[in-house]
Amino acid sequence: MQYVSTRGHATAQTFSHILLGGLAPDGGLYLPAEYPQVSDAELNRWRALSYADLAFEVLRKFATDIPDADLKALTHKTYTADVYRNGRAGEDVEQITPLRVLEEKAGCKLVLQALSNGPTLAFKDMAMQLLGNLFEYTLAKNNAALNIFGATSGDTGSAAEYAMRGKKGIRVFMLSPHKKMSAFQSAQMFSLQDPNIFNIAVEGVFDDCQDMVKAVSNDHAFKAAQKIGTVNSINWARVVAQVVYYFRGYLSATTSNDQKVSFTVPSGNFGNICAGHIARMMGLPIDKLVAATNENDVLDEFFRTGIYRVRKSAETYHTSSPSMDISKASNFERFVYDLIGRDDARLSALFHKVETAGGFDLSGNPGSDGDEFRKIAEYGFQSGRSTHQDRLDTIRDVEKRYGVTIDTHTADGVKVARDYVTPGVTMIVLETALPAKFNETIREALGRDAERPDGFENIEALPQRFDVMAVDVAKVKAYIAGHTGL
Ligand SMILES: *Cc1c(COP(=O)(O)O)cnc(C)c1O
Repeated sequence: MQYVSTRGHATAQTFSHILLGGLAPDGGLYLPAEYPQVSDAELNRWRALSYADLAFEVLRKFATDIPDADLKALTHKTYTADVYRNGRAGEDVEQITPLRVLEEKAGCKLVLQALSNGPTLAFKDMAMQLLGNLFEYTLAKNNAALNIFGATSGDTGSAAEYAMRGKKGIRVFMLSPHKKMSAFQSAQMFSLQDPNIFNIAVEGVFDDCQDMVKAVSNDHAFKAAQKIGTVNSINWARVVAQVVYYFRGYLSATTSNDQKVSFTVPSGNFGNICAGHIARMMGLPIDKLVAATNENDVLDEFFRTGIYRVRKSAETYHTSSPSMDISKASNFERFVYDLIGRDDARLSALFHKVETAGGFDLSGNPGSDGDEFRKIAEYGFQSGRSTHQDRLDTIRDVEKRYGVTIDTHTADGVKVARDYVTPGVTMIVLETALPAKFNETIREALGRDAERPDGFENIEALPQRFDVMAVDVAKVKAYIAGHTGL
């Protein structure tokens, strides 16, 4: 299996080669040269598999340069009931992403798929835990080292740190805005005592942290000398690891391959739902893929109108589902590439226009850049948006009707899913975080605290390990160099 860049000017690469990188050298995103297909017989055989074995079967179609025995060992090391143990009382932890039926009436079925039972209580663990093991495996083979450098406002940084802690050959340097994360999120990250994890609290806002990461990334000599890599959401291995749970959800919710299911996906950078698109392109019988956004509705606007319009910082809102607060959707280019028939020259022109004019228009209206909007239904995509008030109402309603507390991102999903539930097609809403992570809003909605999984009762009281730093690129470079000894 070879990987090509959406922009068409990078040499084709193997899975292992793109594993440790980010963007392709031509500025595009990597995708397989063609999507591997699943047969009816395979789907039937996969129904009975454990999550780890299913992950092996799906991933071996993409990671063809990793020997089967090694890949199987990696998926079995990653997807264990012990790692994904933070589910609600009564959930079967062996299933890794258990389903919970919320409602079944008049042939309509609404189901939650729990993706947030891993160590940081958010769905990013599903892919990041595998990435940690894949990185360690690849680095050991090449006797190499990697220093991961990134910025976080919460979920990504903690998922990366819990995936990389204690891994040989890997260090993590993570910037976060000092005193701007919730007490729970800071405690999760800063209580890690592993010597390969470095938390740097920057005296600024998240954008300052991101600017520092960009400045360091643009210093190619420093980056190469310090062996710096990233684990952001465009990483192909993260996307492909997420394909697995669409298969798991489908196979658990159906009894025969004649049945279809739909997925509603709380969306920000389009990484999660992009994996659903890939599962569908592989032949998984998915009916609808519904993108649910919050007030930052770049994606909802596109799927309603065909117009992609990135937002300026001042138009990007801080909401109570903060992990979906995006101004542009960094994985969206992967879907557009397929939508326009994999025409890389045209794709490059469209995304060049994003940089120069802030977006593009595929509505088919006079003067637009194309008419592919008419084809969106063929790919199953639909969308909706939700507001803070909708989240409060949905959290209360789901609690009252079904006795389940959901987090704010999942609430965006449930709110939007309800508009698209159809008889005979199970609607699976992907649960992307547990409510304990966003307790402030749970309190506002329900007047009480969210329940916490065992072991998280007092994390705010644990000793914390982090360094405070001014917004200063030279300082962060010196800090990294001082700790890598390179
Ligand atoms: C990251 C995240 C999302 C958004 O996922 P994308 O892949 O960026 O679309 C949604 N919910 C939670 C809780 C997240 O952490």
